[in-house]
Amino acid sequence: MTLALAARLGRAALDMLLPPQCLTCDAPVGEPGLLCAACFRETGFVTAPMCACCGVPFSHVGQGGAEQLCPTCRAGQPAFDSARAALRYDGQARRIVLPFKHADRIEVARGLVVLMARAGAALLERAEVLVPVPLHRRRLFSRRYNQAALLARGLGRAAHRPAVLDALARHRATAPLGERSAAERAAAVDGVFAVRPNRCAAIDGRRVLLIDDVMTSGATANECARTLRAAGAVAVDVLVAARVPDPRLR
Ligand SMILES: [Zn+2]
Ligand SMILES: [Zn+2]
Repeated sequence: MTLALAARLGRAALDMLLPPQCLTCDAPVGEPGLLCAACFRETGFVTAPMCACCGVPFSHVGQGGAEQLCPTCRAGQPAFDSARAALRYDGQARRIVLPFKHADRIEVARGLVVLMARAGAALLERAEVLVPVPLHRRRLFSRRYNQAALLARGLGRAAHRPAVLDALARHRATAPLGERSAAERAAAVDGVFAVRPNRCAAIDGRRVLLIDDVMTSGATANECARTLRAAGAVAVDVLVAARVPDPRLR
């Protein structure tokens, strides 16, 4: 047994003995994956008003004009039909999402699934199959799990929808997109994804709901949606845990 595995098992055993803690502080909570009342109040949920298409939050009513669209969606319909997010990606959302991404806190998925199921109820209702944004296998190896796949599996169970966790493959790892412009982000993910040949039948003719942890410019979601449509998906919606607000919508 490796030391890392022993440490994880040790922590899992400890977790069974200790009362579960809030996702972002030390306060005890009823079940693993929950926020305490104080942290819940600190959390920025995405609520109306928002872009009718991509769900990016508006700072005030009327910001999206009569069509309720953000500048990006006004310039052209994305490859996905609509997108929704549970949280605004601010300091508090980072405290929830980053340990999930990088520190083996897989119990976070439980809490995020509850929040995402609420924010994406309409999208889950019409979805026929759930598909996570894939990690490149090298990154999957170093992180040991794909956080988007954990969310897709949890949401599939909660909403009684099949989740096809390996429907999409990622041909190459993209460097963190960081501060890059929207055009640079789109170029970085161009042609990166493919539907696995043995999963085409699960996608062809279906309404797909794409699942990810964080959506920034939407370039990754857009490229996945384009790939899924090319494989015959009749519709693609997107549901993410957290959404980076558009800096133009202050
Ligand atoms: Zn707390
Ligand atoms: Zn939009």
